Amino acid sequence: MAEVVLKKVEKVYPNGFKAVHGVDLDIRDGEFMVFVGPSGCAKTTTLRMVAGLEEISSGEVWIGDRMVNSTPPKDRGIAMVFQNYALYPHMTVYNNMAFGLKMAKIPADEIDRRVQDAAQKLDITDLLDRKPKEMSGGQRQRVAVGRAIVRKPDVFLFDEPLSNLDAKLRVSMRVRITQLHKELKKAGQNATMIYVTHDQVEAMTMGDRICVMDYGKIMQVDTPLNLYHAPANKFVAGFIGSPAMNLAEAEIISKDDQVFVSLNGEELLLPEDKATKAEHYVGQKVWFGIRPENIAINEAAGSGLTGKVSVVEQMGNEVYIYFFLGEQQFIARLSGESNSRDFKALDYGTPTRFFADMNKCHIFDYETEQNIF
Ligand code: ATP
Repeated sequence: MAEVVLKKVEKVYPNGFKAVHGVDLDIRDGEFMVFVGPSGCAKTTTLRMVAGLEEISSGEVWIGDRMVNSTPPKDRGIAMVFQNYALYPHMTVYNNMAFGLKMAKIPADEIDRRVQDAAQKLDITDLLDRKPKEMSGGQRQRVAVGRAIVRKPDVFLFDEPLSNLDAKLRVSMRVRITQLHKELKKAGQNATMIYVTHDQVEAMTMGDRICVMDYGKIMQVDTPLNLYHAPANKFVAGFIGSPAMNLAEAEIISKDDQVFVSLNGEELLLPEDKATKAEHYVGQKVWFGIRPENIAINEAAGSGLTGKVSVVEQMGNEVYIYFFLGEQQFIARLSGESNSRDFKALDYGTPTRFFADMNKCHIFDYETEQNIF
């Protein structure tokens, strides 16, 4: 069992800076958990406390049935893959992968079997005699992953392993790592993986669950789709999704027993289920959120908004229309068929009617920023 559990974990650096504030997290055996959040939110610090590379100021870290607060990294049953690969430059790929096993006094034939097996999984069999400097960044990163695999750890820790790769390689490595997680599981090695990234696309595509962090605190832990469709708060709503959710100050008002969102002088009718929850906010300021794909243009469905178009981006498969509602910029994301339409007429400043699908909107409490639905 390689469940990883953090109980009220805190990190105060020697200069007195508190980087991690009482984090409670339960990572299941065999789970692929992603830590995501903006730069400085303490993803790496938290991961390094699990690895044993950073001391824990208070709280407990458990791996399986052991409390590992004072266990040295090498005895924690973990293997870590770093952003900068951290390969030994003077050793061949084979020896880079075999080194840790030799130190652990594993018999040579077993080492060979594990190295060949990992090399095959990662398509690096042809590179086993090369030195790190004779390889591309993507190949080096595969070696670094291979070095982790051969150790058969209970827990893999990845610290932004793909950030040094170009966009195309990042996509292929991301698929490979996800595939590896599944392959290991199928082969009976139920590897728990914790993966740090600031890239929310990596988080969404790789994670069984995602832990969204901000300022050393957990904002929400959930499956990618739950985070997307039911963000717990305004921070998660704005962080997960690209282009980001449109968020603007609004007011809840009531007329003729109906509840509306009043936004930039327009009144958007809330459907009954949402109206019930928004009722006690009548007369109050809130944050209104709507995803770009839930805004349509020139259609009869939904609640109308008049915006001034600023930019139209036609991507081929979809169209992004940026428009201003007062001072606030919004984005509408239109699907493929929309590309056959000519949006050139919507030049800068053209007042245009947009429609928000209010069944899909979110309302956040103005003070606590928690989702009220
Ligand atoms: P990034 O995505 O930029 O790598 P991160 O989310 O991984 O960021 P950390 O590197 O964990 O963030 O840093 C968390 C906070 O702790 C930051 O505010 C950082 O400045 C601070 N910090 C990190 N290391 C130290 C240190 N040795 N001493 C003092 N503060 C530190």
